[in-house]
Amino acid sequence: MRDTMSATYVKKTDQVKVYQPGSQHVVGDGFHVRNLFPSNDLDRELSPFVMLDYAGPTFYPATDTPRGVGEHPHRGFETVTIVYQGLVAHRDSAGNSGVIGPGDVQWMTAASGIVHEELHEKEWAKRGGTLQAIQLWVNLPKSSKMSPPGYQTIVNDQIPVVQLDGGAGSLRVIAGSVGGAKGPAKTFTPIELYDVRLRAGHSMPLQIPNGYNVGLLILSGQASVEGAHRLSEADLAVFASTGESVTIIAEEDATILVMAGEAIDEPVARYGPFVMNTKAELIQAMNDYQAGKMGHLS
Ligand code: MN
Repeated sequence: MRDTMSATYVKKTDQVKVYQPGSQHVVGDGFHVRNLFPSNDLDRELSPFVMLDYAGPTFYPATDTPRGVGEHPHRGFETVTIVYQGLVAHRDSAGNSGVIGPGDVQWMTAASGIVHEELHEKEWAKRGGTLQAIQLWVNLPKSSKMSPPGYQTIVNDQIPVVQLDGGAGSLRVIAGSVGGAKGPAKTFTPIELYDVRLRAGHSMPLQIPNGYNVGLLILSGQASVEGAHRLSEADLAVFASTGESVTIIAEEDATILVMAGEAIDEPVARYGPFVMNTKAELIQAMNDYQAGKMGHLS
């Protein structure tokens, strides 16, 4: 485990704080992840986001038995998986399934409860290769925690690409909007989610609505926010938007995940794969899962 590094810088944003992964572990046997939160205790600073794992880049040798994480439940939130390298297959108790590769996104709404598996895609696993992905958990407001589960496969082609001024790079809008480009993801609360590629020596303005919590994860390269904080791979910058434009500068070609959203101002009670409002609801979730009420994989 690495120590948490944090520093502060005050300018247009209230305060930018920088975090490194707080823990690392293997999810199932197929996702070697570095966790950015909750291991860094950012529930309040990054609401509505409740978990971020950065998987890889990890090389997995060829195997006939795909690695990954087998049947397990979720309730009370959404899991968003973005693949940068490799192929990930998903299958759930609501009858949804899909395979996503580089540039694709799975947006799974667990809500009232779902059971699913997340594995390396079979043929890809047979060849072996490098996997790089993130999984972000988006909390649901109390009013939607017990809604029916849902699933959105958002493939690369559906995601609008905004070219940044001056050949600075590109920004893919997964959720929310930038200029006239609207992201395809349907969300329960206001969320902006962008996949940014910024070229070395270039900068870009980032404008997020006032009051949103903002997180920037550096997947590769080096960048800085408002001239402060040299951010390297797996660093997470966190701030509350004041609505003013913030400048991101790339010192090296950088791949940056931008997540921002309106906080859900409700109590968070969490245990493993469940994120609810109260401890009693967590106990209910465990009981419901054990009673088979979240379904099974067929
Ligand atoms: Mn899962």
